[in-house]
Amino acid sequence: MTDNEKITILQNLIQIESVNDHEERVADYISSLFEPYSDQVQIKKVPFAEGRTNLVVTMGNKTGKHLGFSGHMDVVDPGNVEEWQHGPFSGDVDAEAGKLFGRGASDMKSGLAAAVIIMLELLESGTAIEGQLKLLATVGEETGEYGAHVLTQAGYADDLDGLIITEPHMDGIITSCKGVIDYQVTSIGAPAHSSRPDMGINAIDNLIQFYLAAKKLMAQHNEVNPKLGKMTHSIDIIDGGKQVNSVPDYAMLKGNIRSIPEYSNDQIFTDLQKIVDDLNMSDPKMKLKIEFIYPEVPIINGENLLTKLAQKISEQYFDQILPVESSSGANDGSEFVQAKKQFPIILVGPGNNSSHGYDEYVDIAQYLNSINYLKDVAEQFVGVSEFAEVQD
Ligand SMILES: [Zn+2]
Repeated sequence: MTDNEKITILQNLIQIESVNDHEERVADYISSLFEPYSDQVQIKKVPFAEGRTNLVVTMGNKTGKHLGFSGHMDVVDPGNVEEWQHGPFSGDVDAEAGKLFGRGASDMKSGLAAAVIIMLELLESGTAIEGQLKLLATVGEETGEYGAHVLTQAGYADDLDGLIITEPHMDGIITSCKGVIDYQVTSIGAPAHSSRPDMGINAIDNLIQFYLAAKKLMAQHNEVNPKLGKMTHSIDIIDGGKQVNSVPDYAMLKGNIRSIPEYSNDQIFTDLQKIVDDLNMSDPKMKLKIEFIYPEVPIINGENLLTKLAQKISEQYFDQILPVESSSGANDGSEFVQAKKQFPIILVGPGNNSSHGYDEYVDIAQYLNSINYLKDVAEQFVGVSEFAEVQD
């Protein structure tokens, strides 16, 4: 495939406005690219909701090593369109700067395009692969990893021996990620005139009891993961009360936790729930409720062939061997890690810090280079006729 064709595929993907929805159009476009090879690939659409469909494309053999490539098809909202110099869904190229612009240029339609192009190029060249390559294109990653959840539950990741998530990160290979827990606590009180607060129940006062207890509990957890460091906890939204002379009958807070295996998500759920239960028990006027929103477990990889290969091969494509790194952000890997079989998951792909910002872009040379690099990793992992088998 020519460089121009690779750029066009990315532009076409960016021009599909899949802002937290409409991923089916992306899935349709990608499957149309595989149409000429329909006798050599299996194309499966796995619906999540109306207009929101995951896409799984498989090629190769049941035997041998199975490598997954995963990318999400949704993008975040462009925000104030006036702030963009290049239209957020234009796919504009600035040839002089070597940049391609648009929402998803970095996060992560370039990574998604890379995975698609790697498979298309292998099909185009008629390269015989020994194992299997599987594209897992997902919906709703940005708002809760819904697509990866659906695919994992349906068993699409159970046969994998390795997974590359082509999220934007090119300075290193991410092999471990903190888990994420968002939670919301609501407090229901009873309204009264503020001149007689004894007649009401102050929902803010009650919520503060939780706030203090949760802060105290989390501060006690000093466990350190050698790769991920410490767990973090931050209460970021607090809301309650309408009028200064009325006792508030409602208050709410939201907290965010980045978890590590040493203090597991399950234990955190239990501990926070216990705070709520104990407070409710301690005072009949206390009416607190906690909800956990799309929690994600941490990802930890030990030594493995995929990471070793990805590091070894990186030297030929970059000016250094890409270091192994960790991340505190959420991604589809937290869902795929719950497949029946354990396999290494790494995150590496084209993109940069412009993700989610105005004039999001990808460096075109980096995009093209990442395709060659990841293709090399994929070929050596699953084995193709011209490569000797790579040993663990
Ligand atoms: Zn992303």
